[in-house]
Amino acid sequence: MTPGTWHTVKLLLFDIDGTLIRSHGAGRETMSLALTELFGTAGPIDDYKMSGKTDPRIITDLLLAAGFSLDEINSKLPDVYRLMTENGRIIFHQRDMQPCPGVLPLLESLRCRSNVTLGLVTGNIDGTAPLKLAAAGIDPAQFRLGAYGSDSLERNMLPGIAMQRATDLTGYQYTGNNTVVIGDTPADILCARAGRATAVAVASGWHATHTLARYQPDHLLENFNDTEKVLDILLNGTINREI
Ligand SMILES: [Mg+2]
Repeated sequence: MTPGTWHTVKLLLFDIDGTLIRSHGAGRETMSLALTELFGTAGPIDDYKMSGKTDPRIITDLLLAAGFSLDEINSKLPDVYRLMTENGRIIFHQRDMQPCPGVLPLLESLRCRSNVTLGLVTGNIDGTAPLKLAAAGIDPAQFRLGAYGSDSLERNMLPGIAMQRATDLTGYQYTGNNTVVIGDTPADILCARAGRATAVAVASGWHATHTLARYQPDHLLENFNDTEKVLDILLNGTINREI
């Protein structure tokens, strides 16, 4: 640890599914119900790999596969989002949503630090993201801003959106140099790169450490159990410029 660096202002952008919480397919269920109600089908949702993708990306892929046009899909996206949120209010609390290992102590250590701004970068839409967190016992209000699937179909756009929102909110200039993106999939690592931010990968979701390692994150963790070690990486870790 370099002396004095604790005071560097940091924006920490967390992914939700597989990083902060385990939702056991509850998101898939809320989407399936909404698509079936509005389109009469959820397409090939049972076989679709959702990991790391934004909700609009998933919805678009499923409905294109079911034969709908982009215009038909896009015109109903606001209704899909509304129904997913309504479904989530009921379904998330009926499922065994849990925080990932070490998440609660880590957030407790972070929330009292004045030099840290907590945010979200997630493929979830802005309606369901706070509901999912709350159902897993995580207060969504501690994340002062977020960039969501409902902001862009392309995950790689989200870190830049979040940095701009954090800058507008706090008055600090947030760029890739003082921003860390934390997630459990290769897509999280790639979107950190797109935002020129530090990429921290955690193998608490559906991807093993050896899989994540192939995408060369700046830091790779098995889980968040060692709070002090994770804090040091999040607050003092930097982009590995040799990668
Ligand atoms: Mg994830």
